[in-house]
Amino acid sequence: MKETIVGIDLGTTNSEVAVFENMQPALIKRNNTAIFPSYVGIDQDGKLLVGEAARNQYPVYPERTVKSIKRLMGSGEKVTMAGKQYAPQEISAIILKSLKEIAEEQLGHAVSRAVITVPAYFSDIQRQATREAGEVAGFETIKMINEPTAAALAYEGAQHDGKTIMVYDLGGGTFDVSVVRIEDGVIEVVASHGNNQLGGDDFDRKIVDYVHKHLAETHGEITLSPEAEARIIRAAEQAKLTLSDNPFAEIREEYLFEKDGVPVHLALELSRDTYEEMITPFIDETLDAIHIALQGADLTASDIEEVLLVGGSSRTPLVHEYIEREFGILPRSEVDPDLCVACGAAIQAAMIAGEEVSAVLVDITPYTFGTGSLDFDIQRMGYKDIYVPLIKKNTPIPTRKSEVFYTMYDNQESVRVRVYQGENSKPNENIEIGEFLISGLSEVPEGNEIITTFALDTDGILQVTATEKCSGLSKTITIDNAIGRFQEDELARAKGKIVELFGDDTDDAQPVVEEGATPEPEFQEAEKTLVKAEHLMENAEPEDREEMVDLAETIKDAMRNNDADRLAEAVNELNEIIFYLES
Ligand code: AMP
Repeated sequence: MKETIVGIDLGTTNSEVAVFENMQPALIKRNNTAIFPSYVGIDQDGKLLVGEAARNQYPVYPERTVKSIKRLMGSGEKVTMAGKQYAPQEISAIILKSLKEIAEEQLGHAVSRAVITVPAYFSDIQRQATREAGEVAGFETIKMINEPTAAALAYEGAQHDGKTIMVYDLGGGTFDVSVVRIEDGVIEVVASHGNNQLGGDDFDRKIVDYVHKHLAETHGEITLSPEAEARIIRAAEQAKLTLSDNPFAEIREEYLFEKDGVPVHLALELSRDTYEEMITPFIDETLDAIHIALQGADLTASDIEEVLLVGGSSRTPLVHEYIEREFGILPRSEVDPDLCVACGAAIQAAMIAGEEVSAVLVDITPYTFGTGSLDFDIQRMGYKDIYVPLIKKNTPIPTRKSEVFYTMYDNQESVRVRVYQGENSKPNENIEIGEFLISGLSEVPEGNEIITTFALDTDGILQVTATEKCSGLSKTITIDNAIGRFQEDELARAKGKIVELFGDDTDDAQPVVEEGATPEPEFQEAEKTLVKAEHLMENAEPEDREEMVDLAETIKDAMRNNDADRLAEAVNELNEIIFYLES
């Protein structure tokens, strides 16, 4: 039997284990999750707890629990757990042994080899300590690779193109950013910088402070039990996750504590704007680190061809906004940021085992979807139309994103929601794919909050909902086949644009296709092939579908450019896939 080598992301906050199966990395799950908290504890009966169970006891029994041990690897410091001392290697070994057991349980056989990832900034001593932890956990052979290298592998596979990439990794408790160069299949970390005391936990803490402030303002001086504090921390993190996709989050905890014998419930709203103000200094700090890493690599932002987002906290919209502004490109986050490093480790493991590997495949939207809004232009002292993208290109589907918009007038009765596909900052330069009116709004002053939600599923069905926040009044439209149909619309639009380029005077304009003219037979054949392909695509395997979409694009492009050779070649290739799918 061929031996499986597992890939392990041994993280500060969470750890994951993956294997390579059916030409793709696959995360190993237990109890429906692939994310295992890097916590170790001893319960009151002296039983060892690892992962979720240890994390759950941490707020109540911190002296019996160890977290974030990665920060101490190689330091020589010891930690105390339930009165006994442990070396960091020993605690890490417990986590690794638990991951090994999970893998063995799921795979049904023993696993003795592992690829373990470490931060690029880890010194030799820290790497050595990690290796020792692996040995103590029972792995016979261990290969260590840098986390940004693993991330690049997950995105690029073993591709041989010359490419300069930035990997931005913001986890629960650590942040690092690396400049990575891929050349001739070799992935090299050119420069790296970060802060191993910065991460999502800091964001949670800001929200916890906000809750404490609210409680102090409404109930005066209070002392909370450790359980109540633990519930606030959990609720704060939950609110943070909600704010990554929604403009508001409700922080609710029933019976949080008692005051004068009366139970007190927590009910507090946090807006994304307020939250972003709280965390701006942290994100600013990550931007400084980016500049230092760029300097270290002797590069500027314009030399970076791609930015890969890694670590759960990189899902924060403010991070995307900063990166987009700094690099002028959309960062990539389609490979789950929590799982990307483990997937890359599994790819490296497969390469060691001599398997043919490719990058991780994910279902993503190839288009951006958004709506239009008015924004005040200070320079021109007037309003201008702006495009507000809600679901950005390359987002994994299904997905659901919400934004808040405000009415402009007192007692505004209705709002028209226009739905666009495209990337242009001017709404009219994008393709309008739907619109609707939400009317009967409450009689309130301007600034009435309307929450617009875009939900796109794997079948390309886009649901757009507008909800008046104060009343709950809402209206939804469904746009079928949102992903597929644009190709046609786009074609029509492109034709329209070309007509426009010939001049506004329609009399002089040269129609692109003469009315009544019979299309070339090759074009007719190509159209037929496209229709057939579209029909079959729905039930095709993702790889086939992806190839078909690419070929359909090539065909349309070749038709637009009258490129007969390219057209014939692409039609042939598409027909081959159709033949294979039909048979
Ligand atoms: P990691 O260390 O990479 O596992 O990342 C864990 C951190 O990511 C924790 O602080 C999580 O709260 C945070 N996180 C996970 N999902 C999201 C999300 N959707 N938005 C913001 N932070 C998130």
